[in-house]
Amino acid sequence: MPFSFVTDSVETRSQARAGRIATAHGEVLTPAFMPVGTAGSVKSLTPDELREAGADILLANTYHLWLRPGSETVRGLDGLHRFMGWSGAILTDSGGFQIMSLAPLCKVRDEGVEFRSHLDGSALKLTPEKAIRIQDDLGTDIAMSLDQLIDMPAPPARVREAVDRTVAWAARGLEERDRLRAEGRGTMALFGINQGGTVAEERRRCFEMLGAMPFDGFALGGLWVGEDRSVGLERVEEDCARFPADKPRYLMGVGHPVDVIEAVARGVDMMDCVLPTRNARRGTVFVSSGRLVVKNAAYANDPRPLDPDCDCYTCRKFSRAYLRHLFAAGELLGMRLASIHAVHHMITLTRRARAAIIERRFAEFRAAFLERFASGETLAPPAPAAG
Ligand SMILES: [Zn+2]
Repeated sequence: MPFSFVTDSVETRSQARAGRIATAHGEVLTPAFMPVGTAGSVKSLTPDELREAGADILLANTYHLWLRPGSETVRGLDGLHRFMGWSGAILTDSGGFQIMSLAPLCKVRDEGVEFRSHLDGSALKLTPEKAIRIQDDLGTDIAMSLDQLIDMPAPPARVREAVDRTVAWAARGLEERDRLRAEGRGTMALFGINQGGTVAEERRRCFEMLGAMPFDGFALGGLWVGEDRSVGLERVEEDCARFPADKPRYLMGVGHPVDVIEAVARGVDMMDCVLPTRNARRGTVFVSSGRLVVKNAAYANDPRPLDPDCDCYTCRKFSRAYLRHLFAAGELLGMRLASIHAVHHMITLTRRARAAIIERRFAEFRAAFLERFASGETLAPPAPAAG
């Protein structure tokens, strides 16, 4: 199998670690931020622009691609890499999260999840086996096991039931990949997802069972769905301490720069989130000194780039004043340029964290980053106009 993970360096004053994941579509440096290509496209950006931003791995959503254009169509066109023109690594989710959050009339049973398509209302069922088959059709490098999400807070019996079901589904997913491999398919890596919401005891119990299964990596599920940040970080720390050191750890749905650095400090290797690019399309970007609302009138005459510390295409070539003008005029280029910065900024942040871990100065990097980010959390004041 082409998949492997090695750790280059582990920080001594925290759990932060730098590593490399080998895939059939190149190496992924960790810690890694994965831009989200929901329906086979990171909205408004070309694969070349993603490469230039430093991306070596993308996330694609199984649910969206299964419904449209259909996983068999993608398979018939030589898989998702060829279909979307992306030669780097791809991680796909299981589809469960989208179904449970998007699809109307969703019913979760032991067999799988019954739901209606949000596109045409047709009745569909996703089982743990089907989730693996669809991801194999897409030709993903890293597939995710189907898990059951629950809205927290939830009664203890419901959390327990979701954990038991997640573990049973994990075992069925692994068996399905074995069946695929017997057919000469299923070369993808497969990650198990630890569940239990924010209940420490249930997460411990879940991993006692999940950790004994031969997954290639483990994900932390159910921690960033509208919960208190500090509770999430405590559970992240506990999960990472339990997860094996020689396999990658993926924290799902985290994309705020502060959360990314705090998760890295607790031993997380991979993260994804639509937040940076979704915000960018709406005219808000993260910069080194916090969050910048591009549309703000304060930038109408500001000649500085979005982030003077950023060397992305947008920051090399354009001013805040121009970006602000594009958003005010409703020009599509504004969304694109802001998105280019957003992806570049998140990947650069994880690359800088990686360099700091390797150079044994992550604690200083983390402290300096947090202080700088907090300095202008809401709005960096414009400089006085020069001469
Ligand atoms: Zn930039």
